[in-house]
Amino acid sequence: MDSSSVFTTCPYCGVGCGVQLEWTTASVTVSGLDDHPANLGRLCSKGTALAETLELPDRLLYPHVGGRRVSWGQAVATVAERFRAAITRHGPDSVAFYVSGQLLTEDYYVANKLMKGFIGSANIDTNSRLCMSSAVAAHKRAFGEDLVPGCYEDIEQAEMVVLAGSNTAWCHPVLFRRLQAARERNPDLYVVAIDPRRTYTASSADLHLALAPGSDAVLWNGLLVYLAEQDAMDRDFVARHTAGLEAALAAARKSAPDIDAVAWRCELSAGDVRRFYQRFAATGRVVSCYSQGLGQSSSGTDKINALINCHLATGRIGRPGATPLSLTGQPNAMGGREVGGLANQLAAHREIEDPEARRQVQDFWNAPAMPQRPGLKAVELFDAVAGGRIKALWIMATNPAVSLPEAGKVRRALRDCFVVVSDCVANSDTARLADVLLPAATWGEKDGTVTNSVRLISRQRPLRPPPGEARPDWWIVCQVARAMGFGSAFAYNGPAAIFREHAALSALNRGRRLFDLSALADLSDERYERLKPLAWPVTAENPRGTLRLFVDRRFPTPDGRARFVAVTPRPPVHPAARSLPFVLNSGRVRDHWHTLTRTGAVPSLSGHDPEPFVEVNPHDAAAFGLEDGGLAEVAGPTGGAIVVRVRCSYRQRRGSLFVPMHWNGAFAARAWVNDLVPPVIDPVSGQPESKHAPAAIRPF
Ligand code: SF4
Repeated sequence: MDSSSVFTTCPYCGVGCGVQLEWTTASVTVSGLDDHPANLGRLCSKGTALAETLELPDRLLYPHVGGRRVSWGQAVATVAERFRAAITRHGPDSVAFYVSGQLLTEDYYVANKLMKGFIGSANIDTNSRLCMSSAVAAHKRAFGEDLVPGCYEDIEQAEMVVLAGSNTAWCHPVLFRRLQAARERNPDLYVVAIDPRRTYTASSADLHLALAPGSDAVLWNGLLVYLAEQDAMDRDFVARHTAGLEAALAAARKSAPDIDAVAWRCELSAGDVRRFYQRFAATGRVVSCYSQGLGQSSSGTDKINALINCHLATGRIGRPGATPLSLTGQPNAMGGREVGGLANQLAAHREIEDPEARRQVQDFWNAPAMPQRPGLKAVELFDAVAGGRIKALWIMATNPAVSLPEAGKVRRALRDCFVVVSDCVANSDTARLADVLLPAATWGEKDGTVTNSVRLISRQRPLRPPPGEARPDWWIVCQVARAMGFGSAFAYNGPAAIFREHAALSALNRGRRLFDLSALADLSDERYERLKPLAWPVTAENPRGTLRLFVDRRFPTPDGRARFVAVTPRPPVHPAARSLPFVLNSGRVRDHWHTLTRTGAVPSLSGHDPEPFVEVNPHDAAAFGLEDGGLAEVAGPTGGAIVVRVRCSYRQRRGSLFVPMHWNGAFAARAWVNDLVPPVIDPVSGQPESKHAPAAIRPF
């Protein structure tokens, strides 16, 4: 029997686990890669079931225009012609790309190059806007660049781990298992979970702070005040390597003058707040992980900076076991950020507003046009579609008809725009609204790289060619670019050539930015094929990559100092009210991913949570006539309503509801939770406030 092995990377969360596929003519088996730094051989339930997702139902196999199967040539010509016509008539800002953290870095790179350098607009944004953009903005404010300083080993070397707004056990399961294993080796490793819900993560922590939804910045500001008053700061580090402490402390003192005030505003016991603060102050090696519970907020950037402030105050950064650590949602959110897949960034972490950066990137690409200002961020972009300002939109590997706030409005808007969807499935809520459908390769067929939460670049390798006429995303983008007349700039013969160009472009950063892959700029096809995971920067000085940043205490700011940010906490924009008395929170369940395209096809994964539900505190259920196991209608301020199963649980705070984000029109009627979320965004990052929508509930 023929057999072979493929070493690749899991396509789900930002942990970025290495996967080994053992293939025979009869079967495919999946196991974790022992020598991959992200997972050291482990896989979670989703990763373990990857072999069952190789044959996706409802696979999109052929290009379609207007619902009719056509050749690739016809489809590409239609897309190029419609985009050209819109640009000629209405200018480059009348078209847009909405892309995805599911794309590989090479796909992302060519999409960004086409939009920014050749179409001449910055209207390319990504679904990573919905999960990571507040972390990006906070990193830029504090460190001068979008950088995650630490590595996963820091969690194992810590004496205390804080999990802020992160249900790590379900959303980053292998990382959680690494934490649990570290606790078994070191029973003194103290874990604090900060989350309004008593999630599985929270119930396994030594201390759970079930704070009032939206009050995180008060808690972290209070810690900064406490550290100052207890003389628990690293005064030498602060004096030599940071700026802005006094303003940050002044703002913190106003909102969180003492422990009693913090406890009152966060609805916590003063004893628990004191316990957290004392432990943080007294522990040298602290890792503070943060995820969507902080970022998906109208003040998410401030919340994350309030957390980072406490690490800067104590010098707990750039040292083993001591760092703030952003946990990325998607497998390649980081890679997308590197190539400039956000509407407010150029390629290679350069800024659109910087004329020198624009000129350098334009020269490098030999590009005819560059945008002079940032483009539309995700929520604004779909507002522009609804308002008729975007005439042609290309959506790649994502499902905004389900995942955007006020998703019902997004679905209506897409009906009136020329919409191209490139995806691997034919029947998503977004694909159903497309004028042109382009069949894309998916995991197991794709070939390229991804970057995980901690800057680790890993290869995704194909097990087999795409079925039907499906093609890699980079190939599809290049075909359209050529049809638009930009052929010579998009004449790549494979993903290795794109990666080399991406690495060569990053070399422009020498001495300005830490994102630098210059040592990989001349990677041969063979070395690209064999590339082992490595964390950037990858330079002549560090050809094997760099696990931990800021060891030298220098930050990529003009004066080399990190910045404290003065944070004045702001409450969520839409508080609960008489007619909408609950706070609705949404998130993932353990065994599902995004809008179920892949995990929904696996019975062993679907069995755990077979249908959408609302989790509600039993006291609230009794007060509102809800029965455990019955149906409820949940309504939001957008006018939308969904019908879901009731689950009574004391894990839920009184006054709060939780509904998973996964279900959509393809899997359950009337279960689009994002239909209920108003399109409120963080003014700094553009990330939506998906964790806090006022809602009403009643028996159905
Ligand atoms: Fe995949 Fe994330 Fe699970 Fe690892 S932890 S196997 S990357 S879903």
